[in-house]
Amino acid sequence: MSPAAEKTAIGVVSAKTGVRWIPVIGLEVHCQLDTRTKLFCGCEVRFGAPPNSLTCPRCTGQPGALPVLNEEALALAVRAALGLGADVAPWSKFDRKNYFYCDLPKGYQISQFDRPFCTGGGITLASGKRVRLTRIHLEEDAGKAIHDRGDETLVDLNRSGVPLIESVTEADLVSAQEAHDYLTALKEIFQYVGASRCDMEKGELRCDVNVSVHPENEPWRAKVEVKNVNSFRFVQQAVEHEIARQIEAYESGDPSRYPVQETRTFDSAKGVTRSMRSKESAHDYRYFAEPDLPPVHVDEVFLERQRGFLPELPAARRERYRKDLGLSEYDAAVIVADRGVADFFEIAARVSKKPKECANWITNEVLRAFGDPEFGVTNVDEMAMRPNDLAEMIDLIGEGVIHNNAGRQLIRAMMKTGKKAEVLVEELGLAQVQDTGLIEGWCRDALKGKDKIAADVKAGKTNAINALLGPVMKASGGKANPQVVRETLLRLIQQEA
Ligand code: ZN
Ligand code: MN
Repeated sequence: MSPAAEKTAIGVVSAKTGVRWIPVIGLEVHCQLDTRTKLFCGCEVRFGAPPNSLTCPRCTGQPGALPVLNEEALALAVRAALGLGADVAPWSKFDRKNYFYCDLPKGYQISQFDRPFCTGGGITLASGKRVRLTRIHLEEDAGKAIHDRGDETLVDLNRSGVPLIESVTEADLVSAQEAHDYLTALKEIFQYVGASRCDMEKGELRCDVNVSVHPENEPWRAKVEVKNVNSFRFVQQAVEHEIARQIEAYESGDPSRYPVQETRTFDSAKGVTRSMRSKESAHDYRYFAEPDLPPVHVDEVFLERQRGFLPELPAARRERYRKDLGLSEYDAAVIVADRGVADFFEIAARVSKKPKECANWITNEVLRAFGDPEFGVTNVDEMAMRPNDLAEMIDLIGEGVIHNNAGRQLIRAMMKTGKKAEVLVEELGLAQVQDTGLIEGWCRDALKGKDKIAADVKAGKTNAINALLGPVMKASGGKANPQVVRETLLRLIQQEA
């Protein structure tokens, strides 16, 4: 096979048999809508509240309690759909998905079955690959069963009735990397349109992964569903593990080991999936129309209003940052990945008129501070430094007031304290030494007894001068401009001749 063909070929070639196995992957992503209250009642949606404190007769399934649709949830769901270029149905309906579990007091989940509010749409990955969406539907979350108390199981219904959208892809993905890239792009779009914060730490984005494999040019085989994977890295690991496990099972030649349609769970500690139960089919849930809710109508006026809320989407922003602001593809991708960071960058770049420098400081220092215990912040909103402060610092460097090297110390102090750049330059004594007489004095001291270096420099080996930079910079307390020091040393050596 030519190298070019190898590059575009998909799948995994078995070392044992030489067979090329093609993975078939589809994702179902549950994402929590960023509403103030639940989907069918007025209970507050808040993470970390005391168990069962955010509940009422409706979200605990008391007899006679009737659901009422939260219009804000529908609005956010519609924005998510528009951000994915999907079609919003003029009318849709809710259905009951019946099953029994201790975290589901009604005995059914209100979801959408045959008439979801949204169909179609999709995402084009950076690689150019198009991933199509089958549908997006609205549904309520279940409560949370806590099994880590020995023999006891505790139930917390705070999450019961929290609004979710479930986005279902076609089985268009062929690798763990593509699954990861799709999830990253989906999360970006949901965050940009304001549909969800997608905070995975708080369970706001959970993923079911469908995986099967088949030899090239053969029909699809049984698919396995890995349920409730709660990080992108785990999704990647689960996909990789399933592909390897299924290929190995088929190639064992033992039909009793062949993969069957089933639901599995991902053990993140071991990086493996484990069988949970044989897979349910839709008819197991006895779906039927929810009689307590009227059909959902979305008219042109509502749709147009939601369209008005859409910001510039991530793909368009990346393109603009590259073309108009001259950022590298990598910097554009890193900055756009978080809307808060992108908005911060945008202001700093406009005020300083130096987008590339803003991008460098943000990717090298700001993003690194997130999650670092020294700073105690996880995102740009929690950070004390504001975009204007960064622009001001870049100005001070441009004017030669501080050297680039001092910038690192300064930006870290700005992130911690929120003080203005000028104030910190003063407090930390970061201003460069402008006094050329002083610099010349340090240079003369450094040259003493260094005749060999001086001779080398005169003989054209100008790099020999580097050995003298250190002592001068040290003498200046790091505040001399290295370029000026270098020029001064050269001038003094040449003068000696
Ligand atoms: Zn409630
Ligand atoms: Mn679901």
